[in-house]
Amino acid sequence: MAKKCAVNKAVCVGCGLCTSIAPAVFGFGDDGLAENILGNETELPEELEASVNEAAESCPVQAIEVK
Ligand code: SF4
Repeated sequence: MAKKCAVNKAVCVGCGLCTSIAPAVFGFGDDGLAENILGNETELPEELEASVNEAAESCPVQAIEVK
């Protein structure tokens, strides 16, 4: 089933890990914090799910919510 993901900007510390692991999904906003460049309500293409899960698990402050 397709998933969506979002970065909790109140928690993100801008370390850049997610943007290197899954650059097709995560980028930095003008605020220097990561965000889902596809949109928080966009269903993730299946081929990107594994890297998004890896990014979520690797985030040092668990700011990435996958649902
Ligand atoms: S890995 Fe986590 S803390 Fe680092 S930029 Fe991404 S969301 Fe922010």
